[in-house]
Amino acid sequence: MEHQLQIYNTRSRRKEVFEPIHAGHVGMYVCGPTVYGDAHLGHARPAITFDLVFRYLRHLGYKVRYVRNITDVGHLEHDSDDGEDKIAKKAKLEQLEPMEVAQYYTNRFHHAMEELNVLPPSIEPHATGHIIEQEQLVRKILDNGYAYESHGSVYFDVEKYNRDHHYGVLSGRNLEDVINNSRALDGVGEKRNQVDFALWKHAQPEHIMRWPSPWGDGFPGWHCECTAMGRKYLGAHFDIHGGGMDLVFPHHECEIAQAVASQGDEMVKYWMHNNMITINGQKMGKSLGNFITLDQFFTGTHEALAEAYSPMTIRFFILQAHYRSTVDFSNEALQASRKGLERLMEGVAQLDRLAASADGDVTLAWVDELRAKCYAAMDDDFNSPIVISHLFDACRTVNRVADGKARITPEALDALKEVFRTFVFDLLGLRAEADGNAAREEAFGRAVDLLLDVRQTSKANKDWATSDKIRNELTALGFEVKDTKDGATWRLNK
Ligand code: ZN
Repeated sequence: MEHQLQIYNTRSRRKEVFEPIHAGHVGMYVCGPTVYGDAHLGHARPAITFDLVFRYLRHLGYKVRYVRNITDVGHLEHDSDDGEDKIAKKAKLEQLEPMEVAQYYTNRFHHAMEELNVLPPSIEPHATGHIIEQEQLVRKILDNGYAYESHGSVYFDVEKYNRDHHYGVLSGRNLEDVINNSRALDGVGEKRNQVDFALWKHAQPEHIMRWPSPWGDGFPGWHCECTAMGRKYLGAHFDIHGGGMDLVFPHHECEIAQAVASQGDEMVKYWMHNNMITINGQKMGKSLGNFITLDQFFTGTHEALAEAYSPMTIRFFILQAHYRSTVDFSNEALQASRKGLERLMEGVAQLDRLAASADGDVTLAWVDELRAKCYAAMDDDFNSPIVISHLFDACRTVNRVADGKARITPEALDALKEVFRTFVFDLLGLRAEADGNAAREEAFGRAVDLLLDVRQTSKANKDWATSDKIRNELTALGFEVKDTKDGATWRLNK
């Protein structure tokens, strides 16, 4: 079957026919997590979006080198060069080695990705493992005259760059807007212009993550790592660079400027960005009290959650929206996704139980048409919600056959199983969950809640023997019980 894959390119602001730079091979770089806290929904969406892209490109026969970095150093504020290094801050607070913090959250991120059935990338480079490459990038930009040294830091000279090239090609901003919008945020005297961004930052004496450099001890600016590691592993020109839409400006805009300033042209052919997630219509943020980690979703241990949502429910929910649409999380929407996923998986199970009949009215031609429609949706910029709607249509046909209202031919039955295997499992990356019985899960959770209620009552009655017994027995079974001001929360440690 001939495929004409179309990808929406943020750079050109239109869909383009996908033609890789090197026939048969695809280089894809996706900005990975910053490992100073638990993975949350903001991590799940790009991970799942680019997992879909990775799976589909491989399915089409491309040899894909997928690089997703780990950001384990840097002042990680999106709109400022001067935010503190959160990993170093956390390390200081908890008296840990910074790499201990980074490793801990990297492990937890990997675990969450496994739960979501997100395939590991081909290469997962760490920013701290590529300081030399980042210094080389900074030196090249300095040599080419697009950066300057100031008080032990090196800044990108945006105005100079903008005179020779155009700063803002990706985000569609022009320098004037950027200058007007950045005034309030910044008053650093060591920059020539407030829009200049740091390529290398001088480390203050108390800064614990620091490396020697020609400009003194310091650490790389946060846009450097992706340019340096992308070039190292994918070459000076590669096919796809992706991430969340919030990275378009300044991160990816700065990456383009760094590429052009260092090598004379852009590195990336297709820029892809997934849209953002809101929670009950609100932006997600720690200060808004709606910051829910993936672990909290999986265990239901956040006050905003009516129940635990399985990793596959989260995955299915994300795939039910096109990656360029916004997604709003609410309990109602998640419950609807859980039910939808159950319906789809019941269809898959039902399919295995169907008997074929030679004179069936559901024929191979019908399955061929279904398959073609699913591929057409994937070829149209990875339109997973359309694929899912075709699969739901197919489930209705499966149910009609199961109910004796239609008959399916043997060839059609085999072909239909193959279509489901390809799209449900291989491409959408869904899997039957080990304990997919949501009702049983819920009853189990309520039973633990009930035990903890009994414990609360015994505590109130100063019946310490009973309250301690419940706590100790639950702990022995692997539950982690935490007392809060309004009772207790629990989780089951696996
Ligand atoms: Zn990046």
